[in-house]
Amino acid sequence: MNILLIAGHGAQDSGAVAKIDGVQYREADLTREVVSNLKKALENYGVNVSVYPTSHDAYTDYKNNKLTSFANFKSYNYVLEIHFNAGGSDLRGDGKIKGDECFWPSRGAATGLETPITSRLFTGSS
Ligand SMILES: [Zn+2]
Repeated sequence: MNILLIAGHGAQDSGAVAKIDGVQYREADLTREVVSNLKKALENYGVNVSVYPTSHDAYTDYKNNKLTSFANFKSYNYVLEIHFNAGGSDLRGDGKIKGDECFWPSRGAATGLETPITSRLFTGSS
């Protein structure tokens, strides 16, 4: 199985930014950390894992029609892009907007992996 991992945001796009206990977190940094760890974990299961260039923002590449310059998407069984979405104006973290999601492009189809992936994500509780 060949999987492409994409770390969301990056380059000039920090993605969501939060300050928690005085520490500022940038979504772009965290997605790269997760992709690095996920790559190692998947390789332990014998999966061939490629990582989209982490110096790039894949969405910017998509908008500039450069996405396929950096990855041959047809050569992968699955493409997973990591994000940590945040609700706008939820600066105090009131818990009204949280959770996880796993979606696929309208031109694609669900593979059946989406529910198992999201069911294993920690969503926190309060
Ligand atoms: Zn994001």
